[in-house]
Amino acid sequence: MRIDLHAHSNASDGTDTPAELVAAAVAAGLDVVALTDHDTVSGYPAAIAAVQALPAGRRLTLVPGAELSCRVDGISMHLLAYLFDPEEPAFAQERELTRTDRFRRARLVVERCQELGAPITWEQVERIAQAGSVGRPHIASALVEAGVVATVSDAFSSDWLADRGRADVPKHETDPFEAVKLVRAAGGVPVFAHPGAVKRGRTVSDQVIGELAAAGLGGLEVDHIDHDEPTRARLRALAAELGLFTTGSSDYHGSRKTVRLGEFTTAPQDYQALLDQATGARPIVG
Ligand code: AMP
Ligand code: FE
Ligand code: FE
Ligand code: ZN
Repeated sequence: MRIDLHAHSNASDGTDTPAELVAAAVAAGLDVVALTDHDTVSGYPAAIAAVQALPAGRRLTLVPGAELSCRVDGISMHLLAYLFDPEEPAFAQERELTRTDRFRRARLVVERCQELGAPITWEQVERIAQAGSVGRPHIASALVEAGVVATVSDAFSSDWLADRGRADVPKHETDPFEAVKLVRAAGGVPVFAHPGAVKRGRTVSDQVIGELAAAGLGGLEVDHIDHDEPTRARLRALAAELGLFTTGSSDYHGSRKTVRLGEFTTAPQDYQALLDQATGARPIVG
C-alpha cells in the first residue's frame, strides 16, 4: 500500500487541477491520496468525480481533507484535517473567514512587492490563482514571471515573502486549539503538518504539541521533505510518548515545488488509526 496524505490542487496553491492530481496519483502508483488544499474544500467535487471515473483496474482511494492556517504564540503552523463533514457550519465558517482574509492580505502583499520595485500586478496574481484559495505561492509565481526571482522557493527569502520578510503581511490564522476542536466537532481527524519545518520560521514547542495532543490532536506528520533525519527521529519519539499516530506525505504542489507525489508515504497501520478516528466522512474508493 502506497499512501500519500498531503497534496494540493489548484483549489489552493498547487498547479494541478483536482482531476490532474487524481491522474498523477494513479501514475505515481499510489493506492491512497489525500486532497488537502489550504483552507478550502472546493476541489472535492472534481476530485471525487475523477476518482469515480477511473477505468477498471486503476484503483485509487481519495481521502478528502484540508490544511488549516493556524497560529499559536506568534508562530504560524499548519493543521491537516481529514474526513470531516464539509457541511458542518462552525468549521465551514472558519475556513470561509480565512479564505476571505487571504484576499485582503494578498492584495497588500502585492502592493508591498510593487513598493519594493517588483513589476507585478494584482490582475496577474488573480490570473495565476484563478478561483483558488489565494496565497503567497501565487505571488511567488508572479515574481518568477516578472523575472524578480528565479524560482518560487527563492521568493520565500527575507527580501520578499518569507514570514516577516519585507513583503509579508499576516493573514487570519486560527488558534490551533480552537481548530482541533472544530475539526473533531465536524467528525474529522487533526494532524499537525510538518511540525519541524524550521526553514519556514520558528516552530511550535514539544510542550505545546503535548497540549494539542491532550486537546484532541490525532497525529504528527513526520516524514516530510522539510524534516531532516534527526528531526524525524525526535518527532517519532514524541508521537509515541503522546499516543499519536505518525504520517508521511509529499505535500505535493504540482510544478510549484520540486517534491514528487508519493515521495514520502504513510504506513498502513497509521492510515488505519486515522480511519478509526474519523466519523465525519468516508474515503472515496474508485
Ligand atoms: P500562505 O498560505 O499564503 O501563508 O503561504 C504559505 C505557503 O507558502 C505554504 O503552504 C507553502 O506552500 C509555501 N511556502 C512557505 N514557505 C516556503 C518556502 N520556504 N519555500 C517554498 N514555499 C514555501
Ligand atoms: Fe502550500
Ligand atoms: Fe503546510
Ligand atoms: Zn501543504
